[in-house]
Amino acid sequence: RTVYVNGKYLPENEATVSIFDRGFLFADGVYEVTSVLDGKLIDFDGHARRLARSLGELGMRNPIATEDLLEVHRELVRANGIVEGLIYLQITRGAAADRDFAYPSEDTPPTIVLFTQNKPGLADSPMAKTGIKVISIEDQRWARRDIKTVQLLYPSMGKMMAKAAGCDDAWMVEDGAVTEGTSNNAYIVKGGKIITRHLSNDILHGITRAAVLRFAREAQMEVEERAFTVAEAQDADEAFFTSASAFVMPVVELDGAAIGTGAPGPVATRLREIYLDESRKVAI
Ligand code: PLP
Repeated sequence: RTVYVNGKYLPENEATVSIFDRGFLFADGVYEVTSVLDGKLIDFDGHARRLARSLGELGMRNPIATEDLLEVHRELVRANGIVEGLIYLQITRGAAADRDFAYPSEDTPPTIVLFTQNKPGLADSPMAKTGIKVISIEDQRWARRDIKTVQLLYPSMGKMMAKAAGCDDAWMVEDGAVTEGTSNNAYIVKGGKIITRHLSNDILHGITRAAVLRFAREAQMEVEERAFTVAEAQDADEAFFTSASAFVMPVVELDGAAIGTGAPGPVATRLREIYLDESRKVAI
């Protein structure tokens, strides 16, 4: 694989980052994941905007102009022959001279790394046809989940808890309400209405979420942005989640209780189709 590190395209085994990098020592970094369909980028502008916001919230310098970032994405897609897959981007506060909680001086160059993940068949995932099972777990993350930091230990633990329970993912719960999935935004459907948690610092503002809600409203579907409980989700007609890597994914079981018929529902199925069709049309 050809990867990108600090301005250079290199074979992955020649790409290196300092052991003093603050991403490594303090999880002092942010990331984005953009999907590729038909060799083109889905929602690049949304990801670039959120990246700029995450960097701004952490007082980090943006080391790359959006046009140049687009060019790096395109070059990696080309160099690695990606037709369907993902592009991972990470920017950290860079390598300080030594380990220190205080940030290094302003002139410390940020570290920027991008690599591709080839995922043939991403859009035609068999999981979208069967739906996936989730468990609920307590949300033990920090309080700024709107910033897309590389601090992903708790979501990783949640994934492992789900696997141990024979499930695919975990929905996190705080003060009795679902916040989001380990790496996705959560939704239920009741009486034809799509319900998903409102935006705040409690959840990541999903780029896929924004697109899916826009398509839903354009298709005259009713949308309500508010918190919902696990019991409400278990009693819903349908559930699903969204993310750049899974698009729209039906959820058919929560804590062992079947949701609706226990199969992917019509709203999730239709939204997945609309999302894929519409996103492909405007991919760049
Ligand atoms: N919520 C969390 C915690 C995530 O990690 C992600 C994606 O990684 C999402 C939601 C979905 O965001 P997006 O649609 O921008 O991929």
